[in-house]
Amino acid sequence: MAKNVTETGVAPEIRAKYEVVIGLEVHVQLQTKTKIFCSCSTQFGDPPNTNTCPVCLGLPGTLPVLNRRVVEMGVRAALALNCTVNEHSRFARKNYFYPDLPKGYQISQYELPLAEHGWVDIEVGGEKKRIGITRLHLEDDAAKNLHEGFSQSATKGYIDYNRGGTPLAEIVSEPDMRSSDEAYAYLTTLRQILLYTGVSDVNMEEGSLRCDANVSVRLRGAKEFGTKVEVKNLNSFRFLQKALEYEIERHIGVIEGGGKISQETRLWNQNESYTVSMRSKEKAHDYRYFPEPDLLPIHVSAAWRQEIKGSLPELPAAKRERFVAAYGVTPYDAGVLTGTQELASYFEAAVKAGAAGKSTANWMQTELLRRLNDSGKEIGASPVLPGGLAELIGLVDSGKITGAVGKKVFGKMFETGQSAASIIAAEGLGEQVSDDAIELAAKEVIEKNPDNVAKYKAGNEGVFKFFVGQVMKATKGQASPQTINDVLRRLLS
Ligand code: ADP
Ligand code: ZN
Ligand code: MG
Repeated sequence: MAKNVTETGVAPEIRAKYEVVIGLEVHVQLQTKTKIFCSCSTQFGDPPNTNTCPVCLGLPGTLPVLNRRVVEMGVRAALALNCTVNEHSRFARKNYFYPDLPKGYQISQYELPLAEHGWVDIEVGGEKKRIGITRLHLEDDAAKNLHEGFSQSATKGYIDYNRGGTPLAEIVSEPDMRSSDEAYAYLTTLRQILLYTGVSDVNMEEGSLRCDANVSVRLRGAKEFGTKVEVKNLNSFRFLQKALEYEIERHIGVIEGGGKISQETRLWNQNESYTVSMRSKEKAHDYRYFPEPDLLPIHVSAAWRQEIKGSLPELPAAKRERFVAAYGVTPYDAGVLTGTQELASYFEAAVKAGAAGKSTANWMQTELLRRLNDSGKEIGASPVLPGGLAELIGLVDSGKITGAVGKKVFGKMFETGQSAASIIAAEGLGEQVSDDAIELAAKEVIEKNPDNVAKYKAGNEGVFKFFVGQVMKATKGQASPQTINDVLRRLLS
């Protein structure tokens, strides 16, 4: 394996000559208690080789029995991705020899997949785009190889067969993406849909979401696609994007240099940020697919399909649109608030408790999410419940307390779990600052800052903010900003 050093950077005007083409193959582990063809547990993190049996160890004479729940989860994902679910589909043997595959073949689907012809809508830079999904098929996962030391120089290899036989859905996209940003958006969108439908926990670190990227470039306007390269080993969203950028530049570099891209599979080296050839297409496996003789074809009746369809939750795109229409939040707000179903429910509960939609969106995005993030808490563990936030928002929106005091109160609510009303009462924060007191404070600030007064009088409008800030500080953030403005304008004119 020779490192390919073409990392010279491609000039923007050269890059602009080319169009990028990307298609992704995504594997998701379907969330079931037991494996696809036996009743072993799929629990992640159990001691190695404890969740195994003769079936998933591929011992001779054993027979697979299909887990109905796997099909249900697959159909669920397929419907959420707008696929046509085939009434009849079939498993196929994909033959290859590797220590992590004790049967000597993977049970996958080939010419008759579970579902086909779907799509998802992505958004990049405010532009919507539809990405086609070629197919979604079911298969069993291989075991996990562990190496001591680094790949080539590994001294010992271990195999954990716990993962062998866990159910996967492979989702293959059309070559519809035209930039690494679009690939990133596609994977993010896909992940969110899978999370909403509960078919997978889509945890990239634990390997329940894995992505292989196919990429090629062609001169703009060319009819034929360029030769594609498949990049494997992308275990984070950032690596997907970095690997694609690396490959795009490498392709352009090779072509501009008069060379040719050879069709191959490459591995992303995440420590040193480059891709390296793993195998060329000429040496690619001939998998000798044939229909799996030990399993019946899968039958998904129209009734079952309908039943599963009826059980799908509101999906992210529909939720975003509804939030904009029903609560007057911006599309950006709606995107953040529908990030997860838990966040969306929190938002709707606060609005239901009486808070205005836009205010709730603002408070959640600034105060709540920031503090949750800082304290490493999930929304479900928030010390401030939706009703409590709604109460606070009500106090601010009705002018009973200022926004600045509101923020202080929120901080205390988050720390102590107490209600806004009790914090305000205990700390005397609700007392109105009288207009006289504001005037007094304003006069003092003006007296102390003759230089800035002169600047203001000379037309420097910028220093007005300074005065407002000083008066705000002097009144401990409890005075109405509007009154401060009015008083200052009067005194300074
Ligand atoms: P293979 O026969 O190598 O498996 P497929 O045609 O099945 O190739 O496509 C596999 C993936 O590669 C799909 O996601 C598809 O969208 C993508 N793809 C196909 N051709 C290209 C290309 N020229 N450039 C980029 N991606 C491509
Ligand atoms: Zn088993
Ligand atoms: Mg293929």
